[in-house]
This record gives sequence, C-alpha cells and structure tokens, in this order.
Amino acid sequence: MTKLRHILTVAAMAMTVPLAAMAADEKVGISMPEKITARWVADGENMVKQFQEAGYQTDLQYANDDIPAQLSQIENMITTGAKVLVIAALDGTTLSNALENAKAADIKVIAYDRLIRDTPNVDYYATFDNFKVGVMQGTSLVEGLKERFPDQKPWNVELFGGSPDDNNAYFFYDGAMSVLQPLIDAGDIVVPSGQTGLDKVGTLRWDAATAQSRMDNILSANYGDKQVHGVLSANDGLARGIISSVKGVGYGSGDLKMPIITGQDAEIPGIKAIIDGEQYSTVFKDTRELAKVTVGMVNAMLEGKEPEVNDTKTYDNGQKVVPSFLLEPVAVTAANWKEVLVDSGYYTEDQLK
Ligand code: BGC
Repeated sequence: MTKLRHILTVAAMAMTVPLAAMAADEKVGISMPEKITARWVADGENMVKQFQEAGYQTDLQYANDDIPAQLSQIENMITTGAKVLVIAALDGTTLSNALENAKAADIKVIAYDRLIRDTPNVDYYATFDNFKVGVMQGTSLVEGLKERFPDQKPWNVELFGGSPDDNNAYFFYDGAMSVLQPLIDAGDIVVPSGQTGLDKVGTLRWDAATAQSRMDNILSANYGDKQVHGVLSANDGLARGIISSVKGVGYGSGDLKMPIITGQDAEIPGIKAIIDGEQYSTVFKDTRELAKVTVGMVNAMLEGKEPEVNDTKTYDNGQKVVPSFLLEPVAVTAANWKEVLVDSGYYTEDQLK
C-alpha cells in the first residue's frame, strides 16, 4: 500500500495533479455528538475538508445528543468499511462493545476532543489541554471579580460544570478549582448555594436550559439579600442560560451589575455577549488545528508510523493511558477577541456584529 501510494504520489507530482486526487480512497467515519454547540459543526466541516484534501472519503454523522443513535451510527460505519473512526463521544463509557467490533475489523480509533473511557480499543486521543481550559476559566473569573467588584470581598460565586458523562467536564472543573479553591479556603470567595463538586454542579448534556433553571433556583433560594458577583460557566452554551437567568431578575440594569461569567468555545453569540459586556470571557479552541492534528494521526497510522503525541501520562481511560496530542487553548476577553478571532481568520468582523 505504501509503495503504491508512493508510486501514485510520484505520478501525481509528475502530472502536477494535486495529491488529493490520487491518494488512496480509504473511508474515515467521523462521529460527532450534536449540532447545538456550534463548535461541533465547525469540527465536522474542518475534518471533512481536510480529510478530503488528503484523499480520504468521509462519512460524517451527528448523533443529535442521543446515545443509542451515536452507537448505531458507529456500528454502521464499521460495517460499511471505514478504515478509521474519529469519535467525539456523547457518553465516553458506552462504546466498549462497538469498539471491540472495530478492533476485530482492524479499524483504527481516535478519540476526538473527548476521551473514550473503559475500553482498550482506542488508539490515540486528539484534544486541547482540558485542565488548562479550566485554569483559564478560573483565572479569568478572578481577574474579572477584581476588576468589576474591587471592594466587595467576599465575592459570591456559583459554579456550573459540564456534563458528568463527558470526561472533559472533570478536567475543566478541576482546572478551574485549582484556581478557585484557595480563594474559597481563604474566605475571599463564598458559594452561597453550597453547591460544589461536579456531582452537584454538573449540567447533563451541557444543556443551556438546565443551567438557566438551576441558576433561577439558586438565585431565589439563596440570594434574597445577596448579589451574585461571579459565575463559573464551563462553556458558552451554559453561559447563555445563566445570562438569561440573571437578566431575568434585573442584573445588568440599574445599579445591579452583571456578574462575571466565563465560557468556552468562542461561539459567535458568546463573543457578541463579550462585546456587549454580558459575558466576561471565553476560551478559544481552534477546531482547524484539531482537525489538522487528527488528519496527521490518521495518515501516520495508515502508513504504519507512530503519530506524533505530546502527552502519554494524563489520559487514563480506565483501561489504558491513551497517547494524546494536546493543543493549546487561548483565553479570550473584550481585550483580545479581535486579535485572536478576527486577525487569525477564524471569524470575519461582520460575523460578530
Ligand atoms: C468540549 C467543549 C464543548 C462541550 C459541549 C466538551 O467536551 O470540549 O468544547 O463546549 O463539550 O459540547
């Protein structure tokens, strides 16, 4: 195969035909969780584009937040001849049987963005430094509190984590708490609801409406005579629900300042909310780069080479430590969104108006 590819490559170059037109047409199955979080749409588009440019066929499927649907889409990819599966799992623990079948059919498996747990049958993991994402969220929350509420310690803060079946949610939460816990211990931050720990602050399926109603309840039960100064929100979708909730009881108008609210994904509505002063920060994860790393891993594996990784310690999935490539996230606020998102060509300025 390698030799054939080489001959084809040479032939392609001689004819000045793009390599893409000549490369082996192996199929890559790409399984994404849902389309409500805009990043997964971008991830899918970037991967299809980059895999096709590299000469692969692609089968891109979205599971619409439905675990059995994702399972059957993956099973279908296996039976229809995919050579590689790239999976952003809805529930990182439910794919073990399907991946055993993949292994039996000699199909390579890459966990994409989210770790797939409890199976030996995952070859590599392409993601961002998820702990660092959380550290950035915690850090920007504290920076925002100091900036907006300099004389009001202790700050009243509430915590909103991601979906407990998403392995990333623990890394985001732990990263953020590595910054916040010392301030809680010192009495500079209090959590009036008393709700801490991902088992209490997690948001199933990362659902914005769930976050909104939890915030409604927290405010009415604990904030009669108090003001909330900050909300740790694990992503932009949750932040949207939290913003609606606090605005609904008058924050952001009159003397009642908006709390500092964090996010993740640099979604267009999130950036607009930052520009409008309703959200304080987000974390940008360049999905073009994640697609590039993933295509590189697939190329290497199919050529029988070792893909490049930069972390072989962090991501133990319960069965093995999955060799990983971690990309760098970027913290974004009103101070740098233009430079990070527009100057890099990720969005046009018009999209953010
Ligand atoms: C991703 C985040 C995303 C969240 C909800 C996480 O696994 O890393 O970027 O916001 O899922 O879709």
